[in-house]
Amino acid sequence: MIAQRLKEFEKLLAGTSCRLVAVSKTKPIPDLMEAYSAGQRLFGENKVQEMCEKQPAMPPDIEWHLIGHLQTNKVKYIVPFVALIQSVDSWRLLEEINKRASKVNRIINCLLQIHIAQEETKFGLDEKGLEELLQNPLLPTLSNIRILGLMGMATNTNDQQQIRKEFRYLRHLFDSYAKNLHTPNVLFQELSMGMSNDYKIAIEEGSTLIRIGSAIFGSR
Ligand SMILES: *Cc1c(COP(=O)(O)O)cnc(C)c1O
Repeated sequence: MIAQRLKEFEKLLAGTSCRLVAVSKTKPIPDLMEAYSAGQRLFGENKVQEMCEKQPAMPPDIEWHLIGHLQTNKVKYIVPFVALIQSVDSWRLLEEINKRASKVNRIINCLLQIHIAQEETKFGLDEKGLEELLQNPLLPTLSNIRILGLMGMATNTNDQQQIRKEFRYLRHLFDSYAKNLHTPNVLFQELSMGMSNDYKIAIEEGSTLIRIGSAIFGSR
């Protein structure tokens, strides 16, 4: 079942520059192994502890993406192995990632999470917060981080026009910064948007990373 669903995503993404992150949160190792055996290498988890438990139980060539809110006191647990932190939403967090990454001699790839949904509860920077972070004069000194782009979650709604409007807004922010980068550790290459319910719209609006959980592994 998992392999079959992955094959369908593979067909959908063939010839595009969009990649699939298999969101395996709450799912057991045998489910992850089934996806791995079908060729999947990008996995997303939203909790530090769960990702730290699964990582050593899985093959070493997996790219682990953290997609959930990250507290500064937990950064140290993931820096030894994480491939991409998609949920950076503050300067303080970025500084902590840089500090911990330098201790293990790694450069950690990050996305800045932008709040695009109408719901109040979702984490992320607003446009002003993004601007301030990217203009911070100390940003070029954070030599153990690399900002690769933006991540966002659309409103959980059936209103397709609303979802499209939110993804378009994120794409617009991404494009406007991508043209105007002056800092060597900031390279806008990845735009992470789209989940099980809205990935088709996200791909149409220029996503480079879709984060799919239930449409691969079943409901949680
Ligand atoms: C859970 C989660 C997903 C995947 O959600 P599905 O609807 O199951 O595809 C994607 N992104 C984030 C940030 C998540 O927390």
